[in-house]
Amino acid sequence: MPPQTAEGLADALRPLLEAPKRAAVLCDVDGTLAPIAPRADAARVPPEVSRAIAALAPRYGLVGCISGRSALDARRLVGVGGIAYAGMHGAEILQPSESRPAVSPALAEYRDRVRGFAATAWSRVRPLGIRHEDKGPIWALHWRGVANDAAAQTALEEVAREAEAEGLAVHWGRKVLEIRPPVRISKADAVTSLLEGRLAVRAALFGGDDATDLDAFDALDSLVARSRLDAAVKVGVASAEGPEDIVRRADVVVEGPAGFHDVLAALAAA
Ligand SMILES: [Mg+2]
Repeated sequence: MPPQTAEGLADALRPLLEAPKRAAVLCDVDGTLAPIAPRADAARVPPEVSRAIAALAPRYGLVGCISGRSALDARRLVGVGGIAYAGMHGAEILQPSESRPAVSPALAEYRDRVRGFAATAWSRVRPLGIRHEDKGPIWALHWRGVANDAAAQTALEEVAREAEAEGLAVHWGRKVLEIRPPVRISKADAVTSLLEGRLAVRAALFGGDDATDLDAFDALDSLVARSRLDAAVKVGVASAEGPEDIVRRADVVVEGPAGFHDVLAALAAA
């Protein structure tokens, strides 16, 4: 699908623009709001993007960010209060009015096992330049920017096999391997959790760039199929590294975070 024209974009967003108080604007953070940085901790959401998100908050029924990061880290990065954050792909939910996220109890009980396995694995792959991120019940091993990409990937493939042999789950993203509890967590759960109890919301948009965001696309499709939503808009943020399905399955395709900023700006017209 080719990138949208301004008219095409306004047309695609019509279900939200017509009744913003009955609409949810949800999006991924890294690669969608923030350009992918050489290291995850160097990522920044441009100030104009934070302002665009903040401007939508009072106009829409719900504005929320759904990230693989912890909810508090996602909020720090986006820098906007008064909106919802789902952390760790939905394992944590931070409601707009709350200061601490609620963690799914099913995940919390695996924290020590994930930590024990991942800390040992990381000490082994650390000489390759692989960095770790401790997200509580999930550990991420990042290899963006390492000296030898192939060696890092090979080492992490071994770590992934061992994790699965230990009964843990793994998830691959853009230059990152996550070690997770063997409990289903996905951005589909995040979308469903955020819409729970918000029955006035009848239309929703989700924008994302990576494989985990396809789960959020699935959730929107399912909510429409079950008539929980009247309309959904799936925004695919295209990148050279992202999966083809993000573009193939999207209703609207934009080029990178700059393109998604155009979507936020168009939503502000409501
Ligand atoms: Mg992303």
